[in-house]
Amino acid sequence: MDLRDDLTPFEAVNYFFFKAAEIDHLSDAAIAVLTGTYRELRVQVPVRRDDGTLSVFNGYRVQHNAARGPYKGGIRYHASADLDEVRALASLMTWKTAVVGIPFGGAKGGIQVDPRGMSKPELERMSRTYFGQISHIIGPTRDIPAPDVNTNAQVMSWFMDEYGRRRGHTTQIVTGKPVALGGSLGREAATGRGCVIAMDEVVRELDLGAPDELTLAIQGFGNVGSWAARIAAERGYKVLATSDVDGAIFNGNGLDVPALVDHVAATGSVVEFPGSESITNEDLLELDCDVLMPAALGEVITKENVDRIQARIIIEAANHPIVPVADQALADRGVVVVPDILANAGGVTVSYFEWVQNNQELQWEEAEVNDRLTKIMRRAYQECRAFQLDESNKASTMREAAFALAVARVVEAAELRGYL
Ligand code: NAD
Repeated sequence: MDLRDDLTPFEAVNYFFFKAAEIDHLSDAAIAVLTGTYRELRVQVPVRRDDGTLSVFNGYRVQHNAARGPYKGGIRYHASADLDEVRALASLMTWKTAVVGIPFGGAKGGIQVDPRGMSKPELERMSRTYFGQISHIIGPTRDIPAPDVNTNAQVMSWFMDEYGRRRGHTTQIVTGKPVALGGSLGREAATGRGCVIAMDEVVRELDLGAPDELTLAIQGFGNVGSWAARIAAERGYKVLATSDVDGAIFNGNGLDVPALVDHVAATGSVVEFPGSESITNEDLLELDCDVLMPAALGEVITKENVDRIQARIIIEAANHPIVPVADQALADRGVVVVPDILANAGGVTVSYFEWVQNNQELQWEEAEVNDRLTKIMRRAYQECRAFQLDESNKASTMREAAFALAVARVVEAAELRGYL
């Protein structure tokens, strides 16, 4: 597949897949299966607004591949969540679950809506309608959704309840639930924690020094970004800047992250945090720092800004934050990129722990969750690095190594089942 600068998100994921297919010497049949998706459902989501009017949105659930286990993947509410983006995210889930070696396939869902300004009752009605519409293709051993952009533990509670009304109480139908409804301790922080574990591994391997000698910029201060900031700051990293959809903030001496968390809880945004300077989201990406962690949306590092990126390490906390042309430019400059399918896999890993706990009807201590997560993230990182460093594999970046490893695992499972 040619490297173009106008690839759609799904084409971009398949661009990386094709590189893996070459490394793994895949058959044409395997390529045909894995560059497409298994099932795609589009549903109409009509929502009665509080003023009595009706708004109508498109909702999607895309199931990419289940060779290694039930479909697994989050549901996002965002204006950009069209079919192509949801396909891209579903296929990334297939590779992500394979990289960390948990027994799931890949899926994703979304409603193409900007939920800002919707009241809680409107959000509840929209969530219940959507989940009801997709309930016939999901199930606790078929497809298990989770939170993503603009969805959270409250939304998962409505989803679980809606499914339960139709099919009987089923805790395992979604992960990322509140602890009071069967959620796992440590799930909320898991994606951010996993990103910091991946960052620690790079820093240790490249011998970059102690965390307090290293500076970090994090785009996005939602679930993933805020937890990554908290955990990184606890370990001593200096968090110079962070942002949200309303703007970005900077402090050359490092932001006081716990105080920032309180500020966001009180005001709803990072902007105007006392003691910080206001910058733009573009400035944040181009900041002079050691590590950049995009933790908001996809396609934020592109042909336009890649030459101005100064960080020497990028941890892809968000999904597909770097488009392929920019990825190539960063690789040519020797910037180390820990790819999304590895870096942000902590969330789905603890989602798996939640599902296991629900199946067994017991609850693990938070320390046990975090220990198991750390072991899995470190093992996955080491396996990707070993694959990359083995010259016979011809994987020149960590992304190529992670994709090639993941694709080989999925193909092995598909062959064993007799699918290929
Ligand atoms: P979230 O909705 O909790 O937070 C998103 C953050 O990005 C918010 O701070 C929002 O204000 C900010 N943002 C939105 N638009 C922006 C813009 N244009 N510029 C700058 N900031 C903007 O979502 P999340 O769950 O933290 O997810 C963030 C990313 O991480 C997504 O790419 C998601 O797919 C990925 N991810 C999430 C999980 C998870 O467990 N939640 C797991 C793996 C990957």
